[in-house]
Amino acid sequence: MQTPTGKVEEKLYQNRYLVDEGRPHIRVVPHTQPSERLAALVKICPAGCYSRSEAGPVEVAPDGCLECGTCRILCAGTGEIEWNYPRGGYGILFKFG
Ligand code: SF4
Repeated sequence: MQTPTGKVEEKLYQNRYLVDEGRPHIRVVPHTQPSERLAALVKICPAGCYSRSEAGPVEVAPDGCLECGTCRILCAGTGEIEWNYPRGGYGILFKFG
């Protein structure tokens, strides 16, 4: 087995994403100060969909979402995010399976 090479950004660039304009499949519930879990999403999302302005709320831009479910699991039961799969035909299109 070969050791994977290349940067994560280069691998993510191989994916394609069909954006469902105006219907984001993930939403962060409005808040003023994020919980530790919510703030952690900025670091753990492999696609970098979450961001946070300094000391501000956490925001999500799910256009490049891999639908891995990491954020969904981390925030399960907290009610801090709303997570759904994109509508049929939209979302991530994995080029290599
Ligand atoms: S499902 Fe995965 S890729 Fe998509 S926003 Fe959540 S952590 Fe990021």
